[in-house]
Amino acid sequence: MRTKAPVMPWHKAIWFPRSVPRWAIILWIALLGRLSTKDRLLAWGVTADDACTLCGAGHESHDHLFFGCQYASRIWSHFLQLNGVNRHGLKLRDEVVWIAQHSGGSSMKNTIFKLSLAAVVYNIWRERNGRIFKGQNLGHDDLISRITSDLRACFISWRRVEKSDENRLLCYAWRIPVSVFDL
Ligand SMILES: [Zn+2]
Repeated sequence: MRTKAPVMPWHKAIWFPRSVPRWAIILWIALLGRLSTKDRLLAWGVTADDACTLCGAGHESHDHLFFGCQYASRIWSHFLQLNGVNRHGLKLRDEVVWIAQHSGGSSMKNTIFKLSLAAVVYNIWRERNGRIFKGQNLGHDDLISRITSDLRACFISWRRVEKSDENRLLCYAWRIPVSVFDL
């Protein structure tokens, strides 16, 4: 008899129907610990500076950016609350394990939560790069607004969402048009 290969708990949190490839890829690389964070650049001798560009107070590593950093954790906490998840943010790898256990299904609510995590990771990395390479500097509120509009832009294109009370409430909360219920 054939036994199934063990599936990484990350899988359900990264690749799912309606996932956004550009967000999923950054999330995946972040989970593998392969983004060019300053602690890695320092180890390679590419830089002498490993200060976090987001908070200025920590050393930039995967664990710090996702979500030990004060700036990043404030952003993730906002999206946890918006998704009705009343707990503190966890480290990224623990968040995906949590998703696999609590939010792995394909309901609209679960999908929005998984997309929120991917969009936050993507945009924190993008903001970090923007600060280093483009001299930009978005505050918490501006980054939260950008992530919210990125997410909404993605939801607007959805169709064939089940017309349930829970989903109507989600549309209301996220200001998603009812066209998502069209067949
Ligand atoms: Zn930081």
